[in-house]
Amino acid sequence: MGETGRFAPSPTGPLHAGSLVAALASWLDVRARGPQARWLVRIEDADTERCLPGMGEHILQQLAACGLLPDKAPVWQTQRTARYQAALAALQAHGLAYPCGCSRKDISEALALRGQAPERHGERVYPGTCRNGLHGKPARAWRFAAEKFDAGRELHWTDRRLGAQQQNVGREVGDFVLRRADGPWAYQLAVVVDDAEQGVSDVVRGEDLADNTARQVLLQRALGMPTPSYLHTPLVRGADGDKLSKQNGATSIDTGTPQAALAALDTAAQVLGLRATTASGCTAALAAWVPEWRALYNSRPS
Ligand code: GLU
Repeated sequence: MGETGRFAPSPTGPLHAGSLVAALASWLDVRARGPQARWLVRIEDADTERCLPGMGEHILQQLAACGLLPDKAPVWQTQRTARYQAALAALQAHGLAYPCGCSRKDISEALALRGQAPERHGERVYPGTCRNGLHGKPARAWRFAAEKFDAGRELHWTDRRLGAQQQNVGREVGDFVLRRADGPWAYQLAVVVDDAEQGVSDVVRGEDLADNTARQVLLQRALGMPTPSYLHTPLVRGADGDKLSKQNGATSIDTGTPQAALAALDTAAQVLGLRATTASGCTAALAAWVPEWRALYNSRPS
């Protein structure tokens, strides 16, 4: 299908300094591969409760103001639920998805009973309570049988920027959610189905998402889908050195004028280790960064 990259923003707020870094990096990565490579945009609105109305359109306008134009019409996850349903059905058919009746409290209590409280990024490691049945409780979520599928194995992969990575998903994350009780599709399932269907060969996104990679690779394998290459970009730090968030000033970037859009792009480029631009417009600045990106990042992991 050719080389394909994508930017996959969640329309929970406008583009901010951090998401512009991911957008720029994924665009440069595609352009550095040559004219046949394609850059796609996917609006990740599967988690409808967190999304704001009109925000997907707003993000597309902000990207366009920066000269970042997708090569095909953007895809919206809310229009693709039949595909997520089919993937869940395939996993169910292979005994790799099971219903879970546990609330957060149930999970904490089950872990406490074992004298454990393992957590990963604020999420409790699921102890497998419903793996062999719901114990009379109503189903609240569908979970991926990670521990069964990876059979205690460690997953190894190479990130194009972070280098050699490994994770034991069953032990370190546990059987993770594919679809939540309240209906929305979990990010992990939607992203894997969409990346495969859009023919994405190279995922470039923020380092805050790096920890999801092993879960996604396992799902790709379980669904017989190819695994793309992964590159996780540096995070934008707030003045306090912490990850940029709304609390420490990660507000919307200004793309209201061509000069403001260029300044926003220039800041993002410097996070990626690219030189400050001397161009007078976004298009010229982007073109000048392409060979620089190619020199810095454009090799696939071996
Ligand atoms: N929608 C996710 C986010 O905005 C990104 C998903 C991805 O790039 O895999 O955090």
